Amino acid sequence: MSTATTCLDESDPNALTVEQALERVLAESEPVSGTETLAIAGALDRVLAEPVAARIDVPPARNSAMDGYGLRAGDGRAGSRLRRVGVSAAGHPWQGAVGPGECVRILTGAVVPEGVDTVVMQEHASESDGGGVTLERDASPGANIRERGEDTRAGTVILDAGRRLTAADIGLLASQGIPEVLAVRRPRVVFFTTGDELVPVGQPLGPGQIHDSNRYTLAALLTRYPVEFVDLGVIADTEEAVRAALAQAGATADLILTTGGVSVGDADFVSQLLQREGQVGFWKVAMKPGRPLAFGRFGRALFLGLPGNPVSAMATFSLFVRPALLRLSGAAADPPWTLRARLLEDLRKRPGRADYQRGILEQRDGGWVVRSTGGQGSHQLRSMSLANAYIRLPAESAGASAGEEVEVIPFQSVF
Ligand code: AMP
Ligand code: MG
Repeated sequence: MSTATTCLDESDPNALTVEQALERVLAESEPVSGTETLAIAGALDRVLAEPVAARIDVPPARNSAMDGYGLRAGDGRAGSRLRRVGVSAAGHPWQGAVGPGECVRILTGAVVPEGVDTVVMQEHASESDGGGVTLERDASPGANIRERGEDTRAGTVILDAGRRLTAADIGLLASQGIPEVLAVRRPRVVFFTTGDELVPVGQPLGPGQIHDSNRYTLAALLTRYPVEFVDLGVIADTEEAVRAALAQAGATADLILTTGGVSVGDADFVSQLLQREGQVGFWKVAMKPGRPLAFGRFGRALFLGLPGNPVSAMATFSLFVRPALLRLSGAAADPPWTLRARLLEDLRKRPGRADYQRGILEQRDGGWVVRSTGGQGSHQLRSMSLANAYIRLPAESAGASAGEEVEVIPFQSVF
């Protein structure tokens, strides 16, 4: 593990690449143990602890995909005149059988009566007052009929263990009549921010003070994950205060998150304590914004110490905390979706660190284009607020010019 230096060189030989750092974070992030049974209505975004198999065939019976007439395919010629013998509506199946020369009025979702093997949509037939139905087109066998089990078959695995449940999954479970699922326990995240200059929202600023934004950002980000979290507040820049907060967090947390105090300044007790009392990890990651990042363990808890600058805290959250949270909660930490976009302006950069500039991505003339949000300082939180994507320039890049294709990571896939 590298030790702290004050080297400001862009290409610090001790710094890990983003990929190396992520690999180490993931190697340490084991899914938590423990499960709980949840009603499906409250299971959105939770992670399945076991696979789920279909209990029934869906649809449970052959039914019509259209409003129209059900008949025997042998009678399905343009010009045929059929006798209407009944009505099959959704939830009200017609019990009889349809014979040659006969048809039933059938509505979408209604069970297909015995004898019927094609449905002619009502736009292709006309009905007279006397109950005679004349077909206007030929009907092909099986048309407009949904077969039993066509969506899911009883016994098939429909959701795998480790699946983070989506709205579609919840609906799929409901369609199976499955009321509950076994979910992985939510990992417990305990977090705090550090800094003598920080004042919570709601209190006026004194000389030299700023409002603590990171704690609010973190809480907002964590809300989107299948975790429970505890906010320990702002911790003063003293060794005792940071030690006490870490001890309190370490007693119950699966993951401790902090911001600030991980540089090499005199007041950077988080990194000092991690090196002395935790289980190693002090890193510089060759990324911008974002270095340094502290990583390791306190007690049984995994620890990620994010930089204090608000943009750096968010960038390191998206690259390292997010995958760790997913892994801890039993889900896969798939790499984010990226796309290529045409750059609308020149971007400056020095070779050495991978750059995650804040960009505004939009569609233009059928393709993606991206531009910078402007000021890219790691203290400029507005750049994150204006942006909807990172523009990722590789470490070796020396900038990019207008018209070039660049790699873009939409925020939806990293927050
Ligand atoms: P540090 O990493 O503690 O050296 O902080 C780096 C910069 O981020 C300093 O300018 C801090 O004032 C600022 N900062 C640290 N923590 C926060 C926070 N919670 N909210 C807003 N700014 C912060
Ligand atoms: Mg600080």
